[in-house]
Formats: sequence, C-alpha cells, structure tokens
Amino acid sequence: MVDIDWENLGFNYMKLPFRYLSYYKDGQWDEGRLSDDALLHLSESSPALHYGQQAFEGLKAYRTKSGAIQLFRPNKNAERLQKTADRLMMPHVPTDKFIKACQAVVKANQEFVPPYESGATLYLRPLLIGVGDIIGVQPANEYIFTVFAMPVGPYFKGGLAPTNFVVSYDYDRAAPLGTGAAKVGGNYAASLLPGHYAHTQQFSDVIYLDPATHLKIEEVGSANFFGITSAGEFVTPLSPSILPSITKYSLLELAKTRLGLEAIEGDVYIDELDRFTEAGACGTAAVISPIGGIQNKDDFHVFYSETKVGPITQRLYDELVGIQFGDILAPKGWIYPVEI
Ligand SMILES: *Cc1c(COP(=O)(O)O)cnc(C)c1O
Repeated sequence: MVDIDWENLGFNYMKLPFRYLSYYKDGQWDEGRLSDDALLHLSESSPALHYGQQAFEGLKAYRTKSGAIQLFRPNKNAERLQKTADRLMMPHVPTDKFIKACQAVVKANQEFVPPYESGATLYLRPLLIGVGDIIGVQPANEYIFTVFAMPVGPYFKGGLAPTNFVVSYDYDRAAPLGTGAAKVGGNYAASLLPGHYAHTQQFSDVIYLDPATHLKIEEVGSANFFGITSAGEFVTPLSPSILPSITKYSLLELAKTRLGLEAIEGDVYIDELDRFTEAGACGTAAVISPIGGIQNKDDFHVFYSETKVGPITQRLYDELVGIQFGDILAPKGWIYPVEI
C-alpha cells in the first residue's frame, strides 16, 4: 500500500506512476499508451502555448464500499470535450477512446484511489492540446491527448459548509458568443484576477453575470449555480456562455426524479434572489457547495443561512454522492466500472 494520509488530502497535484498519452498526426490518433514520464515534450511553437488551442476535462474515480472502483458519467465528459474541440477546431477524441484512457489510468494507479471511508477520490484530468511547428494563427496539425490523475480530498471535511460570494461587475469570464461554454484554459486565465480580488475581500469566489447585460447569474467561480424556491423548484441558469456542468445536469435529473422537485433551466436575475430559500454551486471538484450569501454591490443577500446547509441542498448532495460512491442505485448508464 502507498503511504498517504487520505484524511488530509487537499486539491493538489501529485505525480502518480502512470498517465495515458496519445498523439494525433496526419489526420489520425495513434493507439495511445501508458507512460511513466510526467513531462510533456512539445514544440516551442505549439498553438496551445501561444493561442490557447487547448481544452481540458475533470472527472473522478470513486472507491465503493466493496472495494470496487467506478467512474461517474465519463461519456458526458467525452462528449463535452468533443464540443469544446469543435469550437476550437481540434480533432475529436472518440468517446470510446476517452473512456478507455480514463479506465486505463485508474487501473494502472489503482493503489492511489482513496479508500471508501475517507470520502476522498481519484481526480482525473484529461487534456487536449494543439502542438507542432506552427507560428501563424491557425489550428495545429498535431495534438496530444493525455489523461493524468491524483488523489484529492473531499471538498468539505466535516460536512457541507456554506461560503459567501461577491458579484463581479468589473470583469467577465467569457464573451456573449465567445468560449464560455467550452472547457478551455482561456476562461480560467480570465478568471484569475477577479477571483483574486474576491479572495482578498474574504469571499470564496465571484458570481459572474451574463456578459451581454450583467443582469443574470451565469457562474459561481468555476462552478454552476442552482437555487431552490419555496414552491419546490430547482432552478439553474440557461445561457450559451455557461459551461454545461455534468454535475448540474445530474442534479436537475435527481431533483425531478428522486426529490420530486420541479427542475427548471431559465433566467436567474441577480435582483430577484428573494425567490430562493437555498442556493448552491455545483461541479465535479466542489460537488455541491452551499452558498451562504451573495454580496451584490451594497446589498448582502443571505439565502438559507451563513453557517448551516439547507435541507434540500443536503438531500441533493446525499443522493448524488450516494450514487457516485455506489451506495445508492444510479440512474441507468451513469456508472462505468473500472476493471481492477
Ligand atoms: C468544469 C466546470 C464546471 C463544472 O462542470 P462539471 O462537469 O460539473 O465538473 C462549471 N463551470 C466551469 C467554468 C467549469 O470549467
């Protein structure tokens, strides 16, 4: 067994023994292989480095109570990477190749998949980058697809805890018809400065509004927003510049089918926060992160509580995490086992 303090893992890079690498050249992918070399070898002129022609994904492998290992909806990550690739004129990684690469990396590093009781997981980072000897602004001819992994801790140790956010009016993360819906590093580069300002004011992160009108909520840092109304609705924003979170779409479905809520994708106006009794942010890394309050200009709006998680948010979390760790029966097609 590897010597890791599973209980105290954060979200930090750890160099594991194996990663998957595949190379695209002359219009096709090679077979791909596992490698013990954690360094990428690429041209100094690679378009990924100069013009941001790159995309990534994030998903987790979960250890179940019986010791098995499973992935949560990796086909959705594969499909999203294909959509991102289309937007940036990169080749598709076929869904089958993507899932097999994830499974191979988990299997090869299986002793780094945290034990069930720890609540920790193995985080997988698929990455697609344009490489090769091109200096003009044009799509690359060659690409690297890699998947590496590291164990990460649960986002909240000792239960869900709300945090506060501040609305960003000075900066957007994406343009109205830009790359907001694509999982690309450029959106993150644009979010570093507003995120930094939020942290210096003791907020967890910023709330991004729709870049065209600055009237509607789009994202919560690098997670999607949801709110619960007293009428029993689960509401989440719909916009072409939001990154379509797989966690969010899973929650929409669970809210409807398992909690009997009405699941709604629609506009969430920043001056109508009163309609929500609870609110949260969701994504693979944070799972569900309850929102205590939102600072909107001079107004500080508290939802359920600044210190306690709301009952519906807690039930959604329990359902989702129960499914991911194999304790609750998943909707058909959501769980992909890893042969170990
Ligand atoms: C990845 C990401 C999310 C969360 O998506 P999941 O599929 O749930 O992990 C939300 N917002 C942004 C900007 C992201 O990059």
